[in-house]
Amino acid sequence: MRLFLRLLARNRLALAGAVVLGFVVLLVLMTPVLPLAEPNITNTADRFQRPFTPGHLLGTDHLGRDLLSRLLWGTRLSLAVGFSAAVIAATIGAAIGIVAGYFGGRTDNLIMRGVDMLMAFPYILLALAIVAALGPGLMNALIAVAAVNVPFFARNIRGITVGIAHKEFVDAAKLSGMGHGRIILSEILPNVLPVIVIAMSTTVGWMILETAGLSFLGLGSQPPQADLGSMLGEARAALITSPHTSVVPGVMILIIVMSINLLGDGVRDALDPRLRSGALTRPMAATLVDRDSVPEPSGDGILTLDGIETQFHVGDRIYRAVGGVSLSVGPGECLGLIGESGSGKSVTALSIMGLVASPPGVITGGAARYRGRDLIGMPYRELRRLRGDRIAYIFQDPLATLHPLYRVGDQLAEAIRCHHAIGRAEAHDRAIELLKSVRIPNPESRARSYPHEMSGGMRQRVGIAMALANDPDVIIADEPTTALDVTVQAQILSLLNDLRRDRGLAIVFITHDFGVVAQLCDRVAVMYAGRIVEEGPTAEILARPAHPYTSRLIDCVPELGGGRRELAAIPGLPPSVDDLPAGCAFAPRCDKKQSSCAVGEVALKPRDGRAVRCLYPDWRPA
Ligand code: ADP
Ligand code: MG
Repeated sequence: MRLFLRLLARNRLALAGAVVLGFVVLLVLMTPVLPLAEPNITNTADRFQRPFTPGHLLGTDHLGRDLLSRLLWGTRLSLAVGFSAAVIAATIGAAIGIVAGYFGGRTDNLIMRGVDMLMAFPYILLALAIVAALGPGLMNALIAVAAVNVPFFARNIRGITVGIAHKEFVDAAKLSGMGHGRIILSEILPNVLPVIVIAMSTTVGWMILETAGLSFLGLGSQPPQADLGSMLGEARAALITSPHTSVVPGVMILIIVMSINLLGDGVRDALDPRLRSGALTRPMAATLVDRDSVPEPSGDGILTLDGIETQFHVGDRIYRAVGGVSLSVGPGECLGLIGESGSGKSVTALSIMGLVASPPGVITGGAARYRGRDLIGMPYRELRRLRGDRIAYIFQDPLATLHPLYRVGDQLAEAIRCHHAIGRAEAHDRAIELLKSVRIPNPESRARSYPHEMSGGMRQRVGIAMALANDPDVIIADEPTTALDVTVQAQILSLLNDLRRDRGLAIVFITHDFGVVAQLCDRVAVMYAGRIVEEGPTAEILARPAHPYTSRLIDCVPELGGGRRELAAIPGLPPSVDDLPAGCAFAPRCDKKQSSCAVGEVALKPRDGRAVRCLYPDWRPA
């Protein structure tokens, strides 16, 4: 709620709308106690007094009634009717929508066809017909306006409910034995409530206008009672001779509707969770770069990172997700990047091609060189040419990275045609070839499948095929096998292994599984709290880890057939990256720590082709 108000206050127009509307509401709430003339007392001797005549601040109308008094009482009535109509329409419409969307099937069909019939009538005609049937009067105008708006809410809310009614948490509620009523109230309603509020805030203005319209036609409030619409209607005859009688209610309608709409838009923006996290902005095409200097190249691999630093600036907090990572990988080489969840592996990988979302992400230092060219801060056009062409990614969740509405063959073809000017048929043939190369059975028919028709392992292979589509030089694989079972994982690992041997691919393989590293990687870098703590050839590091963190991490891997032994776990939690301790970040959890570990900067010290960031490393002879 505090966040909602903060976001709303940041939107200047919405704030202005809220202030104006608040002032109007305050005014009409105070109307009964203000020293005003009686709104309905006629005095034909004082007809059409101009504004600012003594005793009549806004002048008088054709019957000599005080316009200020009628305006305030009329606004009071119009606002009350408009808001009530909105609340009634939203309540009934949402109830209909939820019931239709939740139960589905025949209930849904019956209800929604009825709603469709209501929607088929022109809006204002329907309202007129309802008032004609019920007879003129403000109450009937309210009923008419509410009724014509019910279908709008019903359609809107039904759509949202259909999406929610099949979510797992609703199934879980059903399995726990909850009745339909309780599920609707406790599971569905809280999820659609924001949508109801948003729809209401954007339609209240309309409803006030519609009520005014009916009153203008003489079907709403009846003389002598004033509302904004009837005031306009009565002033119509004197529009030319005494324009102030029309201008006064007209301006009030303008002010009310404008301020409600501005506020409504602000409420919608602040409540929408997608807009919320990005602080009302869309992420930029490439990560923001803000670095003072460009470091010298430190390695001669095909892809070399030199002291990459990536931070997230959220409000006044700074999260140092990656704090100076240097890596190098050559053709045909596979480098493993390993570490606990949250250690900054993914952010490191995404920083290379500027894929970290900005805001809040900022690359504050370092360089990432592909064949000697720095990718950080590279013009977007050039970066885009390299993305997916020379350097490709495989992500962890293939269902989230494949488009659910396109066939996988078409998605593969699109990935190729994005970078190469080749024909549709040729791209399609190439797509099938790719599917074959990742060992998908029946590639011709599989190319016509949608992502949801494939198993997780198959989708992951499509993800790999897509990464291979343009014959890249470097593949960055971010936990590509974490979601898979061991047999499929083994197939995918051997596939990647073949590819790097056959095509000379350089692979950066991110994982938290030492078993996978042992199978695939030539070298491995261990990450902790955004930094590399140990690096070296896989076999040596697995056999003789020098950093206490690495050896604890290796101890956590269960051994098949190794007999019963106590499973090791590392006590404590990784530090929060917005508040890193001084000295070694692992010291608070380390059983070998000394007092000197908690002061100053601990450097990554190279030795015999390995490197370790520890003051008291455990070097054991081979
Ligand atoms: P992992 O090693 O599991 O891939 P990540 O690279 O995803 O870890 O995350 C590294 C750190 O960056 C984590 O501490 C995470 O909380 C932080 N982080 C990631 N994204 C954001 C964000 N949008 N805002 C703030 N912090 C973030
Ligand atoms: Mg990750």
